[in-house]
Amino acid sequence: MKEIVQKENPVLREKSKEVPYKDIASDTIQSVLKDMHEALKEKECGVALAAPQIGVPLRIFIISEKVFIEDEKVKKEEEINIGNNKENNLVYINPKTTKTSKKTCELEEACLSVEGYFGTVTRSKLITVEAYDENGVKFTRGASGLLAQIFQHEIDHLNGILYIDHARDIQKVETQKDEE
Ligand code: ZN
Repeated sequence: MKEIVQKENPVLREKSKEVPYKDIASDTIQSVLKDMHEALKEKECGVALAAPQIGVPLRIFIISEKVFIEDEKVKKEEEINIGNNKENNLVYINPKTTKTSKKTCELEEACLSVEGYFGTVTRSKLITVEAYDENGVKFTRGASGLLAQIFQHEIDHLNGILYIDHARDIQKVETQKDEE
């Protein structure tokens, strides 16, 4: 089980390297993806994860499908048990931003590598990303809302940037002790 590294770890500050196209199908990359899926699955509140967050400085991130389900409001409680919905993460390898809107919005953001905090960031409202999936198929996806925010947050990770570098009003999450 790969631990999610925390903000002090220098790997989060590296500029991650591209995955050579011929390596996408390799055991090495497929096992990195497996580790990422497992690490994200452990985190109930996590919606996405970048490879450097498990200590691997490669340009890969994954997004949990629950983002799309919530975004598109097609979730039916009995039909989909999100907790068990493990392998349906979307994989983005060597993502490139091809378009961003000038219009921005202020959003609350948190990060699995900055546990216990959240802050307000300014993000472009719309973004288009080009990437390869886990089978080496190139695709383009335009996004708004939460998905656009995730794209920008994850691409920042691949460039060694954490949201706390540019967030305002960083606050501690108040945790309530569970009564047992
Ligand atoms: Zn993050």
